[in-house]
Amino acid sequence: MLLFFATTLFAQKKPMYTTTYEKGNGNQTATYQETIDYFKLLDKDFESIKMIEMGPTDSGEPLRIVIFNPDKNFDFAEIRKTKAILLLNNGIHPGEPDGIDATMMLYRDLATGKITAPKNTVIVNIPVYNIGGMLNRNSNTRANQNGPESYGFRGNERNYDLNRDFVKSDTKNSRSFAQIFHTVKPDIFIDNHVSNGADYQYVFTYIATHHQKLGGNLGNYFKKDMIPEILASLKAKKIDATPYVNIHDEKPDGGFEQFMDSPRYSTGYASMFDVPGSMPETHMLKEYALRVKVTYEYMLESLNYIEKNHTAIKEMRAANRDNYLPGMKYPLQWAVDSAQVTLLPFKGYEGDYKTSEITGQPRLFYDRSKPFEKIVKYYQTYHPTLEVTIPQSYIIPKAWYTIIELLKINNIQMYPLEKDIDIEVESYRIEDYQTTTYAYEGHYPHSDTKIIIKKEKVHFTKGDFVIDTQQPGVKYLLETLEPQAVDSYFNWNFFDSILQQKEYFSAYVFEDTAAKLLKDNPALKAEFEAKKKQDTDFAKSAETQLDWVYIHSVHYEKTHMQYPVYRKMK
Ligand SMILES: [Zn+2]
Repeated sequence: MLLFFATTLFAQKKPMYTTTYEKGNGNQTATYQETIDYFKLLDKDFESIKMIEMGPTDSGEPLRIVIFNPDKNFDFAEIRKTKAILLLNNGIHPGEPDGIDATMMLYRDLATGKITAPKNTVIVNIPVYNIGGMLNRNSNTRANQNGPESYGFRGNERNYDLNRDFVKSDTKNSRSFAQIFHTVKPDIFIDNHVSNGADYQYVFTYIATHHQKLGGNLGNYFKKDMIPEILASLKAKKIDATPYVNIHDEKPDGGFEQFMDSPRYSTGYASMFDVPGSMPETHMLKEYALRVKVTYEYMLESLNYIEKNHTAIKEMRAANRDNYLPGMKYPLQWAVDSAQVTLLPFKGYEGDYKTSEITGQPRLFYDRSKPFEKIVKYYQTYHPTLEVTIPQSYIIPKAWYTIIELLKINNIQMYPLEKDIDIEVESYRIEDYQTTTYAYEGHYPHSDTKIIIKKEKVHFTKGDFVIDTQQPGVKYLLETLEPQAVDSYFNWNFFDSILQQKEYFSAYVFEDTAAKLLKDNPALKAEFEAKKKQDTDFAKSAETQLDWVYIHSVHYEKTHMQYPVYRKMK
């Protein structure tokens, strides 16, 4: 009796903290409520764990972060004085829930002492980022995935892919993420996913943020030291890894390129703030239990690495800003350097083509009875195809408050002008751009944006904002405010109102004005006549010719195509 009583007491004192995933058949993942309840329980029972409610999401539910710090200190300003911070993000694509289940177990194992708690690293995790997607639970939307039995949906409550939303921030999720990111100020970031695409032997694949975009010694360190050492410790646990097999509907044998994670993606966003990030992409055709296991081990080995190298990582991050000083060049666009090849040992399956039962056309299939290990060509090196000189500061008229607001959400420091003033700046006119003809993530984004640069004195008024580039968000400023950058606010349609002309002319009225203008201005007339000679379409179209004269007259509005963000070079 006494013995029974003691055992009961013991059991009450030390519950097992078994997760939904562990309770199940290995092919089941926690629901949203189970996940939050689990972290609530850990928060209640362990002083080292604290869950905090953060900003809202589109679903109406708030985002949460869960902190693990054995020192029981949850003040980030205090923590970062001595420790490194690892931020984990889960459930951005809730159909890919491996990280959700793995992180629940990792926190439990840290809190209970099953694994040694780190002394120099604090872990923060967002248990579920796409809450709306996770609540939209089903068993069918991951058509090519081997489990779990049911899971959430990729799109959020408003059908946005949150892993394209880090710059344009259409969702409340993204805005709340920025708040979390700049409160936590992580040193390392991991965003857990499951892959799509080719078949091969690996359970674990990963996207490491592009080292060149990360920049300088930090980028080299991440590529040459940190990632290889973490992968070596996985290998010691018999977990093989390959870089994300960035190829779709083709065999990987022919080689593939490293994924360039532009700022719209989670790791691309982190990179703008000198935070090395990675996306584990477990292979969708492998059993769920195997995928959860490798995700767990990757997070654990990353933690172990940070624990040993926390000082070096923090120092390199701080030093990285020196690579982005005014007057230096900053690459806005990149292309793969096909001359730089890494020979990558790759464990695949023989792929071949046979006739499709459906279409009668050749279709790809992989033969799992024929595994191979081959050397494939891997292209990791990119070269800049467009660069810009980093200005001293940007100046944005206060009227562009949607931009100001986004910059502020991203912790960009700025100050308002105290009085009206003329300032010598570089200004951009938009010369040309392409626009997609299909909806993409709530936008019709632009690309191939061309600009004309002009030095001029511009009149600014009291309250317009000056933004010094010499701050931790320097790369964020360049990537969003330079219209030619891949994920610029311009390309994401934030400045579309400048693309439309507001006033026009009636030809019969303007004819006489145009004639006088050319008569009074021989140089303009010469230019006009030359254009007529060179350009036959122009010569044939009365409307285009009149329009040309209009654009070269004082009547043409200055605001049309005038990009309203200015660059102060000194
Ligand atoms: Zn994903």
